[in-house]
Amino acid sequence: MKKLEGKIALITGGNSGIGLATAQLFKDEGAKVIVTASSLSTFDKAKAELGAHFDVIQADVSKTADLDRLMDTVKQKYGGLDVLVANAGIANFLPTTEITEDFYDRMMNINVRGLFFTVSKALPLLRKGSSVILTGSSISIKGMPGGSVYAATKAAVRSLARTWSTEIPPSQTRFNVLAPGPTETPIFSKAGFTEEQQKGFYDQILTTVPAGRMAKSEEMAKAALFLATSDSSYVVGTELFVDGGISQI
Ligand code: NAD
Repeated sequence: MKKLEGKIALITGGNSGIGLATAQLFKDEGAKVIVTASSLSTFDKAKAELGAHFDVIQADVSKTADLDRLMDTVKQKYGGLDVLVANAGIANFLPTTEITEDFYDRMMNINVRGLFFTVSKALPLLRKGSSVILTGSSISIKGMPGGSVYAATKAAVRSLARTWSTEIPPSQTRFNVLAPGPTETPIFSKAGFTEEQQKGFYDQILTTVPAGRMAKSEEMAKAALFLATSDSSYVVGTELFVDGGISQI
């Protein structure tokens, strides 16, 4: 028996990196997987590449009208949700003195506001026994030069899992955070780093990772599968660090 047979899963940002690896594993485990692409241009690409395997819906999580349309579509097509992975996010780094209001607002609007309204608007759709996985980061409990706003967004995500776990009975929906460490995905190339800057950034991070390597997205997907299924039935409101020990040792 597959672990997610007959389940409906929605993964925001499921067309790239950790979200895509999670979508693939959930599909292999029998789920019907809906993934979002943020813009119309990424939607066309995602639809062409992934449309045969997943239901691809365009939704920018920082736009509440997009989230309303997304949840309406999910309700009409599937009736409800068993798993929600609120994964869409960006990671930009700058020293505090160089951070503009636009930089700050964009990070908060996608990583915190976007995740908040993704979950709040999905709540009426979540079936009894459902699981919500919030993609956080090991940086939620670490200091790192240039990471002030990004780390603050992920600390907020961690906090939301605690509050939601008190507002909604775990027998109805369990909320947990998956906190990846440095993982090989396109996220930092999208942050405007040159290849050389990206290499320098990774080399510097790797000196702090006990496991001595970056993670693969598939390693995050396996942890997400654990949180999505009844294998984690007694795991509530936690922050599961899958980070090669970076935050723990
Ligand atoms: P990625 O860039 O491959 O994936 C991010 C996804 O989020 C993409 O699908 C992107 O389109 C989507 N997204 C971005 N802005 C959006 C918006 N406004 N609306 C809708 N979707 C939007 O990167 P990834 O590394 O797979 O990141 C996934 C999550 O993992 C993020 O929340 C990130 O903060 C977190 N994370 C990543 C790492 C890492 O090292 N890669 C480490 C810790 C946490």
